[in-house]
Formats: sequence, structure tokens, C-alpha cells
Amino acid sequence: MKNILLIWDIDGTLIDSKGLGRKAMDKAFFNLYNIREGFKDVNMAGRLDSRIVKKAFMINRIVDSNLVSFFDKYEENLKQELKSNTSSRVLPGINEILESTSQQENLFHVLGTGNCERGARLKLSHLGLDKYFKIGGFGDEDAERWEIIKKAIENAQSFYKTDFKKENIYVIGDTPLDIECGKILEIKSIAVATGGYGYEDLLECEPDYIFQSFEVFEEFLSLLAS
Ligand SMILES: [Mg+2]
Repeated sequence: MKNILLIWDIDGTLIDSKGLGRKAMDKAFFNLYNIREGFKDVNMAGRLDSRIVKKAFMINRIVDSNLVSFFDKYEENLKQELKSNTSSRVLPGINEILESTSQQENLFHVLGTGNCERGARLKLSHLGLDKYFKIGGFGDEDAERWEIIKKAIENAQSFYKTDFKKENIYVIGDTPLDIECGKILEIKSIAVATGGYGYEDLLECEPDYIFQSFEVFEEFLSLLAS
């Protein structure tokens, strides 16, 4: 039986966190530096937290030695946002996919996200998804997105003591950047139009597979079985 590795993006793919991450970052900027809308000119979709914050630091002339205290504040704010805001949700079909495959011995779910690990865990545990993902690649490091995905693969190989073949590794995400990772690493990409990009925009990037959403989760599962 072939071993399949699924590398999941978080925002716009597994969950819609209703911009709570961005809000928590904006707040941290205001709390610490008294600057409003510190991320106004920073595109966040598909990007790594470490790079997003560094870019905002650069624009607002804040030195990188503040990164640790910034992320501490971000975590604190994110906890509060999640507690007081009930609108974040699991995207259609995700619960069904994860629940129905979690006992499948040849299928492994990991994270491949631009979120810093603490942020990722907070967002997912709030919606009960944390339990499905033991490991992954995260946006804490200053790296390219594809390097995060590569890290996720390496972590999966050593953690599960399994050598995944490239043709059985899938990167799943809602942005052109996720699809690009698939091409760079020569693994399969699955795009889903439940985030910031429309179906047509994603289609132009030529993913291996594309879904409007995972609502008809049986289609997603049959793809893996093929
Ligand atoms: Mg995303």
C-alpha cells in the first residue's frame, strides 16, 4: 500500500479565521509601538509570519531585535481574539476528511503553513483540529515558503519513519504560493478556492488538482484513492 503525505495550509484551506490573526498582529503593533495599521501595506496571504512581521518592521522602522517580544504579544492577543470572537470556523468538508481518514494507516496529515507554530496551534485547537496534526513546517523561520514545505516533508519522514515518494506527497492550499511550492519541490499540488483567491485565478497557476471547496469531500478522498 502506498504511503500518502498531505501537507495542509491553515488559513483559507482548513479554516476561515476571519482575519483574527491579522487583527492580533495589528493590535500587537499598537500595544508595543503605538502604531496603528502597521500591516497596512503588507500582503499576508500565503506568506510567512516571520517575513510578514519583518516587512512591517522595515516599513515602520522597528529593529528586528523586537521580534521575540512581538510574537509574545501576538500570541497573547490571538488568545483573546479567539476567546471573544466566535466567527472563525472550519471550512466545509474538512472535518469529514480529517475524521474519516485519521485512522487510515497509510495516510499522514501534517501542516505546511506560514503561521508561526504557536499561532497555528492556537487557531487550530480553538476549532478542535489540533489533534490531527502532530508535526509540520511553520512560518517561524526566515525562509521561503517552499523551504517550509520541504521542512514539513523532512519532519514527516523522520517522525513517521516513512520514506514518502514525491508522487504521493500533496501540498494543499488556497494561494498561488502553495501551488508554486508543489512545482518547486516536484510534489503534487491541490488548490482550493475557499480563501483569498478565486477558482479561475488558481486555475491559471496550473495546480495538479483544484476544488471550489472540499464540501463534496468524497471527491477529495477518491482522488487520494486513485
Ligand atoms: Mg492560506
